[in-house]
Amino acid sequence: MNKFLLSIIIPCYNEAENLKEFYRRAKAVLAVYEYYLLFIDDGSTDGSLEILKNLAAADDRVRYVHLSRNFGHQNALKAGYDHARDADCVVCMDADIQHPPELIPQLIAQWQKGYKVVNTRRMDNGSEPVLKRLASKGFYSVINRISNLKLVPGGADFRLLDAQVVTQLSFFNENALFMRELVPWLGFKQCTVAFDVEERFGGNSKYSFKKQVSFSLRGLVSSSIAPLRAAIFIGLVIAGLSFAYGIYALYVHWFTVKALPGWTSVMAGILFVGGLQLLLMGIIGEYLGKTFLESRKRPLYIVEECSTGSLKQHNPVI
Ligand code: UDP
Ligand code: MG
Repeated sequence: MNKFLLSIIIPCYNEAENLKEFYRRAKAVLAVYEYYLLFIDDGSTDGSLEILKNLAAADDRVRYVHLSRNFGHQNALKAGYDHARDADCVVCMDADIQHPPELIPQLIAQWQKGYKVVNTRRMDNGSEPVLKRLASKGFYSVINRISNLKLVPGGADFRLLDAQVVTQLSFFNENALFMRELVPWLGFKQCTVAFDVEERFGGNSKYSFKKQVSFSLRGLVSSSIAPLRAAIFIGLVIAGLSFAYGIYALYVHWFTVKALPGWTSVMAGILFVGGLQLLLMGIIGEYLGKTFLESRKRPLYIVEECSTGSLKQHNPVI
């Protein structure tokens, strides 16, 4: 086996209960490799940072980057990739041990076969709540249907990237980052490994229902402009129907002796078209908002502090 440097990036937000266990399990698996663990503390308030500092003081294969506040999982991942550019390959995974560290050797084996991106897919083993599974299935089928992408259902932010891909990622500074969409878009030779998702070791999921809905919406809007096209299509269909109804109204006016056409149908028409306009404006507003957020060009995260081994820069100069 050629010598290579492996970096494991782990975004963590209030994962104090899991960090030591994660470290223990990862260390056991990784002993045969030259590696470092890079924890991205995404503004935790539960003492995670202190634990990370202690781990880093005791083991120089532990590095950490502490963000100035909670910037969200995807931005924390980006911070991880930006700070892991000295590695030959980078694996990202959750801190809650839902992504088993024992799978890493399999990912590396695929990388050594020449794959530059090794994705993973959660096997549906019934351990996730039914509602979450259904929502995830629905989300992937919609996003694949309306965009040109083929996202893997059950895809997780647990993947291996070659250094070349990590370098490419450093050129991206878009606001509504969505790695599961971006990584397939990048191209390169990709493959997928399936794994059994484990129960969270400790603590609760940081993705509340509200966050999940907003995450899915971000995925839809940032991956395509198909909803805007759908808006045009819906508009055309409604215009066609209105036109046909207009012809019918003229027919009633000229060729029948019917009294005043009904108030109900007029009201129904107004309410329906009014509601539809609001919906379509909402879709347009979503994109407008996104454009506004992008135009501010704010950094995706702010580093407050990092361990000495970590690269200091972020948002690298191209
Ligand atoms: N996470 C983060 N910032 C956030 C939310 C989550 O860094 O704002 C981390 C979290 O600590 C975990 C990973 O992202 O390591 C995935 O989050 P979680 O396990 O809560 O998501 P789930 O597995 O339930 O989808
Ligand atoms: Mg999790």
